[in-house]
Amino acid sequence: MTSLLRLSPGELDETLTALGAPRYRADQVLQGLYRRGLDSLDAITQLPGELRDRMREGGLALESPAVLREVASDDGETTKALLALPGGATVETVLMQYPQADRHPRSTVCVSTQAGCAMGCVFCATGQMGFERNIPAEDIVAQVLHFQRLLAPRSEHVTNVVFMGMGEPLANYDETIRAVRLLTDPRAFGLAQRAVTVSTVGIPRAIDRLAGEDLQVGLAISLHAPDDALRRRLVPTARPNSVRELLEAGRRYFRATGRRVSIEYALIEGVNDAPEQAHALGRLLRGAGMHVNLIPLNPTAGPFAAPSRHRVRDFRRILTEAGVNATVRIEKGAEIAAACGQLRTDSDAASAAGSAEAPAQG
Ligand code: SAH
Ligand code: SF4
Repeated sequence: MTSLLRLSPGELDETLTALGAPRYRADQVLQGLYRRGLDSLDAITQLPGELRDRMREGGLALESPAVLREVASDDGETTKALLALPGGATVETVLMQYPQADRHPRSTVCVSTQAGCAMGCVFCATGQMGFERNIPAEDIVAQVLHFQRLLAPRSEHVTNVVFMGMGEPLANYDETIRAVRLLTDPRAFGLAQRAVTVSTVGIPRAIDRLAGEDLQVGLAISLHAPDDALRRRLVPTARPNSVRELLEAGRRYFRATGRRVSIEYALIEGVNDAPEQAHALGRLLRGAGMHVNLIPLNPTAGPFAAPSRHRVRDFRRILTEAGVNATVRIEKGAEIAAACGQLRTDSDAASAAGSAEAPAQG
């Protein structure tokens, strides 16, 4: 079986032509999938029933995720869904909305590219689960379409996609790229390439490959430390020289694509939040033209905590004084365990989500 959500518009043209259908049928299918959000082959009623039968016989299918659980934050701006994807993985996907004056809200979907993750970052709930499986492109796209269907009745739509959910996108490289192309193809989901950001813990060769894809997507590199000894404590799978290698790969990415690279730095109390570490990071990044996103740690089951507010402010000030652009990322959805690094799918997640909801009700 091949999912219709996996085929590029060109591949769909060829497939339907091979089934003897005229050219415009592919556009009807694409409109059904991406504009109208239809979730089964039979719902695409513009197609003659006989063509739908031939498509099915030819091994084409359209299935949607089952929603196992969905929780919204108290302000309604963050929604987390636990989705059982047609390909077999169960993952968490998050919608974050940012109100904008006189316009529809910015609506960003944070997609998962793997169930679990092999990189093992010690502060990340997904990393602590270990690796389960890769998610195929159609199931990455399906996560976006799930939220698109939620927004459409309100005349809103998904405006941005960030590959910052569960998993390491560049460790599932081909499926990630296929999903990016589907999400940004004007005949498919049709987002601007600039509205897509891929976040990676850093596989330098894969960053170079991404730079060569002729895509204008944003790249975020999760650095978390100014030196290799500390980075390897936090990201146990990191290579001995990963700090330098990643910054060099980031520079090459910028040269090749013209897109500024951002550096993500999860701030952890007493681990990587000291003023000396901010100075070291400032020296490392000065003149690199990279923007730093400081993410005060979101709580997970691990022993780590977020620094105090003034400690975060000082860290940022030191960077700014060193000439490095830095912002503190306002994390949405922490109360429903929907923020960066909090996504996981086992039964612990269910009870954590339950306890986060309880105060709101009482
Ligand atoms: N695997 C990719 C993308 C998914 S993680 C990566 O690591 O970049 C998305 C972001 O969340 C990364 O920057 C990651 O370091 C960060 N993150 C993970 N756990 C976190 C936590 N508990 N608190 C804050 N940020 C966290
Ligand atoms: Fe994987 Fe990213 Fe979590 Fe590290 S932070 S374990 S790379 S998902």
